[in-house]
Amino acid sequence: MATFQEFLRGWPVERRLRAAENADSEAVLRALNKDGLRPQDFLALLSPAAAPHLEAIAQKARDLTLRYFGRSVQLFTPLYLSDICTNQCRYCGFNAKNKRKRRHLTVEEAFKSAASIAVTGLRHILLLTGDARKVSSPEYIASVARRIKPLFASIGVEVYALTGEEYALLTQAGVDSVTMFQETYTPRLYAQLHPVGPKRDYAFRLAAPERAASAGMRSLGIGALFGLERFVPDAFAVGIHAWWLQRNYPGVEISVSVPRIRPHEGDFAVPNPVEDRLFVQYIVALRCFLPRVGITCSTRENAFMRDHIAPLGVTRISAGVSTAVGGVCPGENAEAGQFEIADTRTVEEVRADLAKIGYQAVVKDWEHPVD
Ligand code: SF4
Repeated sequence: MATFQEFLRGWPVERRLRAAENADSEAVLRALNKDGLRPQDFLALLSPAAAPHLEAIAQKARDLTLRYFGRSVQLFTPLYLSDICTNQCRYCGFNAKNKRKRRHLTVEEAFKSAASIAVTGLRHILLLTGDARKVSSPEYIASVARRIKPLFASIGVEVYALTGEEYALLTQAGVDSVTMFQETYTPRLYAQLHPVGPKRDYAFRLAAPERAASAGMRSLGIGALFGLERFVPDAFAVGIHAWWLQRNYPGVEISVSVPRIRPHEGDFAVPNPVEDRLFVQYIVALRCFLPRVGITCSTRENAFMRDHIAPLGVTRISAGVSTAVGGVCPGENAEAGQFEIADTRTVEEVRADLAKIGYQAVVKDWEHPVD
């Protein structure tokens, strides 16, 4: 089977930009009025020609979301295990060059933080670490997963890219989902943004979801960090990556995260900010292209935005979030987080606000089978 990287080579950045520029109203309406969209149709929905049709695209996205997901949104929360990192991603507060106090939770400290999360009623958790193999090794992540497994129905990881054997180790430890952001799908820009460290290996990272799926992961999340590359090239690449994974791994649940870059420590100037209208266009175009794909929205977005985009396609949101290591434990003196969050609501507040718009917050929609 050809890899996704090989498939993506058929859609170089210039081709993506040209096709979006050439798309016209007719192409947008054709995409809007058909089922089973092709990548070219998705590109039309992302293009400037789609902007005047945003209302109609949003209506179709709303209908599809209701048909496939009903009026429910799944809640989860991240748990930051370690902010020690050997990479120097230019846009990140955990960048190894930032002189700051670092923290790495022991397995027991991680259990204590996880227990603080579990009392809020959440049953889906996402474990995060910086990229420092010697400190946050795959064995360490597996130990944390085994320790907290009795508290949660589902454990996901958002860590550095692993080998197939390492993903298999995590699956055996009870991890059932992997989130892996490519950040940008444009190799040259990727190289500029990741000057040193293991994350510099674009191809190894891009193939990580394929290795995780082959190792038996039940669920995969992918995404780009918006604000780095121009909108169309990365929005399209994320969409066709999810489309390709759905076709090649039909037994695996695929979801897309839609992060926009947020303020953080350091002086990174966001090269291509994505304004709200374009952000909404991305979500509704994704939903029309991939009716069954999960769409995850983090606390990078504020409460107003998150409440309004849930009916248009978002199926999973984080709640009660701290992006600092140890930040979820009451009374803990946590350092600054990876980025500033824009929605500081508690789990209960998120649940109540979703109820106000007629949506149910779901804390558990899957449970790891008993061994
Ligand atoms: S984005 Fe991840 S890998 Fe890069 S510096 Fe931040 S924590 Fe490290």
